[in-house]
Amino acid sequence: MRLLLIEDDAMIAENVQEALRQGGYTVDWADSGRAAELSLANGVYDLVLLDLGLPRKDGVTVLEEYRRRGGLVPVLIITARDAVADRIRGLDAGADDYLVKPFDLDELAARVRALLRRRTGQALPIYLHGGLRLDPAAHEVSLEGAVLHLVPREFALLQALIEEPTRVFSRAELEDKLYGWGDEVGSNTIEVYVHSLRRKLGPEQIVTIRGVGYRLARVA
Ligand code: CA
Repeated sequence: MRLLLIEDDAMIAENVQEALRQGGYTVDWADSGRAAELSLANGVYDLVLLDLGLPRKDGVTVLEEYRRRGGLVPVLIITARDAVADRIRGLDAGADDYLVKPFDLDELAARVRALLRRRTGQALPIYLHGGLRLDPAAHEVSLEGAVLHLVPREFALLQALIEEPTRVFSRAELEDKLYGWGDEVGSNTIEVYVHSLRRKLGPEQIVTIRGVGYRLARVA
């Protein structure tokens, strides 16, 4: 999952990025409203974390303009503005959730998980597909009840597939989900992770659609 953090305070940004990366997410950081707009125009994000007090352009304005342009990605406001009027304004501007600073990083992670699953219409906190079970909170995958040991990018790749199990993902889409701005991406990286996942899950679980990409096997 690829997240965009819009936050001008470098120390908070570092802490939030660190916590989310430990949760297995890829996180890009934009430190102003302008940088945020450029990043949002890429359209590769699964979730946006938005500070409101930003230099030059306020977070609420960034959000309103993003929604007006048709941006659909869930937005979680993280701000020190704790007045009820601010919360209402933020949510009515198109935010999906609102968290007041200072917040607990574990609570932030839980809200991120909740928003990510709702964005694909999933209410259950655990993803089930055939014999596969993926628990984002525990960061655990099992197959027919047996726990599998996945490296973080294998986990992220499987999570992307299981969230939308009928969708075919292109290699480029998967790269966008797994890698942020500063990351080196090898030309066959996704194939390598698909190969290692097939070794752990069994070769039939991930289907190659020739010339298009990958999806999970259909469940009978
Ligand atoms: Ca700020």
